[in-house]
Amino acid sequence: MSITVDSINKRFGKYQALNNVSLDIPEGKLTALLGPSGSGKTTLLRIIAGLESSDSGRICFSGQDVTGLHVRDRNIGFVFQHYALFRHMTVAQNIAFGLDSLPRKQRPPKAEIQTRVNELLEMIQLPHLSQRFPAQLSGGQKQRVALARAIATRPKILLLDEPFGALDARVRKDLRRWLRSLHDEFHFTSIFVTHDQEEALELSDQVVVMSQGNVEQVNEPTELYARPGSRFVFDFLGQVNVLSGELQQGRLSQGNAWVTVPGSEHQGNAQLYLRPHEVQLASAPTAHAHLPLRIEAVSLIGSEVRVELRPEGWQNESTDTIWEVGISHSEFNHQRPARGDLRYAVPEIGHLFNGKDSQPETIDWASSESVPRMRLINNTSA
Ligand code: ATP
Repeated sequence: MSITVDSINKRFGKYQALNNVSLDIPEGKLTALLGPSGSGKTTLLRIIAGLESSDSGRICFSGQDVTGLHVRDRNIGFVFQHYALFRHMTVAQNIAFGLDSLPRKQRPPKAEIQTRVNELLEMIQLPHLSQRFPAQLSGGQKQRVALARAIATRPKILLLDEPFGALDARVRKDLRRWLRSLHDEFHFTSIFVTHDQEEALELSDQVVVMSQGNVEQVNEPTELYARPGSRFVFDFLGQVNVLSGELQQGRLSQGNAWVTVPGSEHQGNAQLYLRPHEVQLASAPTAHAHLPLRIEAVSLIGSEVRVELRPEGWQNESTDTIWEVGISHSEFNHQRPARGDLRYAVPEIGHLFNGKDSQPETIDWASSESVPRMRLINNTSA
């Protein structure tokens, strides 16, 4: 079942929580609503669910207007951050709840409810805990039960509000994978709210980025990451290194820091955005970049080594500006960067913003003819 959000407005007193929001949520896909706290994600989810009314606009399910339909008639499954399980009911009773409380005519016979609960217990891999009460479960187990309860009535739409927000990192990752496979098996149309960009990019088919009651961008995760349409989206999708300066005749500079910008026609104020993996570290400047930085910290934890650096001698950078560059463990073993060392950032791909609110221009030094491609810059003897 597809969902259409058509020109939805919502005010709380003087605060415009949603500002003319329109969206298409495709059938059978997992869509993430991603944005900072207060951007309107939960309000939008609640309006789609029928738990909150909008001031104007329409919600349609597969083209049918459901704006005036009561929540119980929308056939939606919900999962909230704080499990909301019934404390006095066992796991099995919690899962059966939605079916037990259907009007008599729609309610399946007792034996069928029991069969369905058993199937769901198998699916969430908790049949051995069916007689426990919520207080006797871990957070991850509670959230599995909440999911089983949400889908017991076989809804076409599943709405999840920060479903893994209260869980620790490990359990969160496991449950993410599990939700993805569950989704692939049952093909619900799902929307989940999160402020965790990694979770949104990893789990969803489509990401809706929200900011201050507006939709900033809608895209598939890989497209969104490759082509953020605004500074806001860029900033929100993770760590980014920025060189702000004056662009004159193909060179962007700030104090002693500069980088050539092949192909850019723009003159004047500009900012170059570089992600940690789009930059290499060298011990000497190259022909296309002079970006001196001093190493502040080196972290070896994780699949790559994270090097934090502070601009050295750039004119306008505040003292708390930190650049982050990711290098492989083998590069680390080769170069042995250490706190206090001077290094030069060498951009490979960058994103240049020039006018206000403009789309960024992608600068690819690696494929530009004047600059040879270099992955590992081993000029430590220079
Ligand atoms: P979070 O990630 O913190 O949950 P969110 O993006 O889900 O944030 P919403 O909960 O949708 O944001 O809230 C959007 C704005 O509307 C916030 O500024 C919030 O304070 C306000 N708001 C939400 N519900 C109400 C309410 N019932 N009464 C008054 N203001 C509200």
